[in-house]
Amino acid sequence: MRITLVAGARPNFIKIAPLIAAIQEMKTAGAKIRYRLVHTGQHYDRMMSGNFFEQLQIPEPHINLNAGGGSQAEQTAQIMISFEKELIQNPTDLVLVVGDVTSTLACSITAKKLNIPVAHVEAGIRSGDLSMPEEINRIVTDSISDYFFTTTKDASKQLQKIGKQPEQIFFVGNVMIDTLLKFRPTFRKPVFFDELDLKTKNYLVLTLHRPSNVDEAQKLQELIAFICQQAKEIPVIFPVHPRTRQNYALDSTPENLQLTDPLGYLEFNYLVENALGVLTDSGGITEETTVLNIPCITLRENTERPETISMGTNELAGTDLPAIKKLMQIMLSGNWKQGVIPELWDGKSAKRIVEILLHEFKTSH
Ligand code: UDP
Repeated sequence: MRITLVAGARPNFIKIAPLIAAIQEMKTAGAKIRYRLVHTGQHYDRMMSGNFFEQLQIPEPHINLNAGGGSQAEQTAQIMISFEKELIQNPTDLVLVVGDVTSTLACSITAKKLNIPVAHVEAGIRSGDLSMPEEINRIVTDSISDYFFTTTKDASKQLQKIGKQPEQIFFVGNVMIDTLLKFRPTFRKPVFFDELDLKTKNYLVLTLHRPSNVDEAQKLQELIAFICQQAKEIPVIFPVHPRTRQNYALDSTPENLQLTDPLGYLEFNYLVENALGVLTDSGGITEETTVLNIPCITLRENTERPETISMGTNELAGTDLPAIKKLMQIMLSGNWKQGVIPELWDGKSAKRIVEILLHEFKTSH
């Protein structure tokens, strides 16, 4: 069986890494399977792309479509044009897309229009918030995919609600957690940790990159200033996403705020694992903090990952300052709720996915 894997942006690399490892393992064990890795080029900085290939031992992509930059529509169009050529030149039995980024949407549409089956990993999650580009990407990708791999039973139910057949839906757990558990023993102290004299459980980690939080410069400044004020003397470490960098004025940083470039995966998760808590608008990070048992405040009005709240260590604050203040007080007092790890977030999800695909293609193709 031939699988074309698509990866384009930071969270994609983390999800694709265990899938390639599982394919290679099964190939070594004698399975008839080969893959082609397509990097769309959506993220192209070293610290948003290349570094993840090195740290997570992802083999070089077979092709880079170099479709980075431009507006969402330009990027979507560019990826579709190049991916169509790629699929015509390199026929495949299945296109596998992960997550909810522009590349996920663009490549699933392109493949389906060439009548190539599509598998979506991390299918069925919904925030209900159509102002998020990711929500549109999820809805469109799920509407046309053929195989759905889900992180929770609720996501599987959501897919049945939109008319997908039970035999197309596979609850397999979370590939992002496969990567977290595999690399946890090798998390690396960032160089600035000792330079800044950071102490375990005595600093906070902040990440922000959602358009609703970072696209208005003044709102972003106010939110960060408020968080730093609430943290009092506790350092706030803020690895700044490229999207956020453009709008954050570096000359007015509060004293306890430490800005860094985006971190490598191993350094970032070392920082998270040793933090007193995390404040973020990322989705993936709320899954990781749940598994690492680190208090997490989500700076969004909604989440497509409700299990990180009902079972995990995450709480939703939105950008309502009194709500953030209340949750930060609990976080700083050390009395945060205890979480449990959701079902099948056990490090074996990628293996389940590849086994299912091999079985499906043996029986139906
Ligand atoms: N991450 C990282 N370095 C950083 C910030 C995040 O390696 O400086 C990792 C993080 O551990 C998680 C992923 O990037 O695995 C989350 O990506 P992002 O927040 O960009 O996307 P989202 O999850 O919101 O789609």
